[in-house]
Amino acid sequence: MSCTHLTVYKEQKKRFCEIGKYEGTPTEEDCGGCSEYSGPSRGLGDTVKNVISKATAGKVKPCAPCQKRREALNKMMGYKKKEE
Ligand code: SF4
Repeated sequence: MSCTHLTVYKEQKKRFCEIGKYEGTPTEEDCGGCSEYSGPSRGLGDTVKNVISKATAGKVKPCAPCQKRREALNKMMGYKKKEE
């Protein structure tokens, strides 16, 4: 997955989060469940979130239950990952 906040150094096998989530060094699993993820949809939950955001021009801000729905839908219907 390619979050816009993520930088990966393959030689050192290190991952850095620009906004400091997970102490700045998230695992792939951390990013998979992160509420601040920004990038291509990881699953149906991200797609629903993006549609709501576009349809409301960003006026509806996600709340805790929205994040739970997002994570649950991503788990139930995750999209296949492309090789990075
Ligand atoms: S998914 Fe979250 S932890 Fe991972 S890089 Fe993006 S903002 Fe940081």
